Amino acid sequence: MREFTDLSRKPVLIIGAGISGLATARLLTQHCIPNVVFEASSADRNQGFSITLRKWAYEPLLHELGDISTETLAKAIAPDRHVGGAGSLDQALRDVSSGQKLIAPEPAKDGTSDRKMFRANRNALRVWLRDCGEQEVDVRYRHKLKSFQGELGNLKVEFENGVNFEGSLIIAADGVHSTVRQHMLAHINPEIVPVVVFHGDFHLSHEEFNTIIKPSIGDSNILGGVGDSFNTPITVSNINEKGVDLDWSYSRAVRGDNDPLFNPYGTQDQLRQIPNDLLYELESAKLASPFSYVLSAEHIQKNGLFNWVSRSVFVSRSDLNSALEQGVVFVGDSWHAMPIFGGEGGNHALLDTVELSKALLDNSFQGGRKMENEEKGHLLEARLHNYYDGAYKRCHDAVRRCRQRFGLLHRPIEEWRMLAEQKSQQPT
Ligand SMILES: Cc1cc2nc3c(=O)[nH]c(=O)nc-3n(C[C@H](O)[C@H](O)[C@H](O)COP(=O)(O)OP(=O)(O)OC[C@H]3O[C@@H](n4cnc5c(N)ncnc54)[C@H](O)[C@@H]3O)c2cc1C
Repeated sequence: MREFTDLSRKPVLIIGAGISGLATARLLTQHCIPNVVFEASSADRNQGFSITLRKWAYEPLLHELGDISTETLAKAIAPDRHVGGAGSLDQALRDVSSGQKLIAPEPAKDGTSDRKMFRANRNALRVWLRDCGEQEVDVRYRHKLKSFQGELGNLKVEFENGVNFEGSLIIAADGVHSTVRQHMLAHINPEIVPVVVFHGDFHLSHEEFNTIIKPSIGDSNILGGVGDSFNTPITVSNINEKGVDLDWSYSRAVRGDNDPLFNPYGTQDQLRQIPNDLLYELESAKLASPFSYVLSAEHIQKNGLFNWVSRSVFVSRSDLNSALEQGVVFVGDSWHAMPIFGGEGGNHALLDTVELSKALLDNSFQGGRKMENEEKGHLLEARLHNYYDGAYKRCHDAVRRCRQRFGLLHRPIEEWRMLAEQKSQQPT
């Protein structure tokens, strides 16, 4: 007979201090469930780019954290928080060859609680999740998971620095390359999405930003740009007294079998090299300002870039169930990494954590696939199954949607222009 697996006896071991790991730790800590987060990198590692947070994800989290207001969150994590901003974003897409707006959906209301989405600096979000409550979240940096063994209720983990730990449950929050997943579900390999993505940082003084970018971006933290089957958003990742940090990206579908810009197996050094083919492609696109400024050969050569390999993962329910029997539950990119073009991965990561903590705490839990067995050890297992019962379809649909959105965002410019024309003829 399985032992009683009470989560208050041995801590929950959370692997990874990205947004899913830290949100889980914050929620468990708030409910007095002992937990420890183990993170491979050091505390000062930056994940500075910005992401779009959506109401359907951040609102349930804020509710669980004690009805914190959207405004409080936005003012703590928005890229423009240091200059009084709250992460507003304009969803308009511009034609990068003219700089003019092509498609301009109704602007998001800049009020507070009814905002459907806002931009967040990912690093500021991690820090906020770690520090927003009264009780301290226990994060052990420089603890890279090496291996683990045991079963639900009784697990032993070993880290590369030689430290060992015991716990009741492992929460795998260690991202798309999850060590936990590789350890127990080695047959699952992240799929490489056939897309070329280059990404770069750009720092401007306030004066340069106000002259070059502000006339187009206004108060928004993102400037969406589309060209002929490619996409080039410019985003604000941080504004402070020293200036403005921007990110840009350039993406398009892979062309044929020998696309010189598609390098999925490149080393980190190779992925940082600036291909002449890219510079030529950007020059041929004849970008208008401010895209021409940020993505000019001169600035790319000065600031560098990174060739991003886009990966997608989705773990099947039967694999999730077998991992669960061995004491592991997944949150975030470790089980559903999705192409970035849908802008949903981080949001589903947050929602996972809310649903998981609710499932773990559900005292009224009745029924469920494992409840016929009334041992208390199985109650925990049943609660974890209940989490997947809710989250599985949501995440499966999201991965599919993000893949489809890739096609929509990279359509030929003629299609964009036709769409814009149709939209302009619709009654307002
Ligand atoms: C350019 C870009 C733009 C994006 N834009 C958006 C957006 O607009 N909206 C959106 O919702 N999502 C967006 N995303 C996706 C979003 O950032 C991710 O879905 C989200 O960060 C996943 O969080 P996570 O905590 O699950 O994983 P991660 O953030 O990857 O965190 C995993 C953590 O685990 C640690 N780790 C890994 N292995 C180990 C180990 N062996 N031991 C210990 N620790 C380990 C890592 O160091 C890391 O800190 C974007 C992603 C990118 C790249």
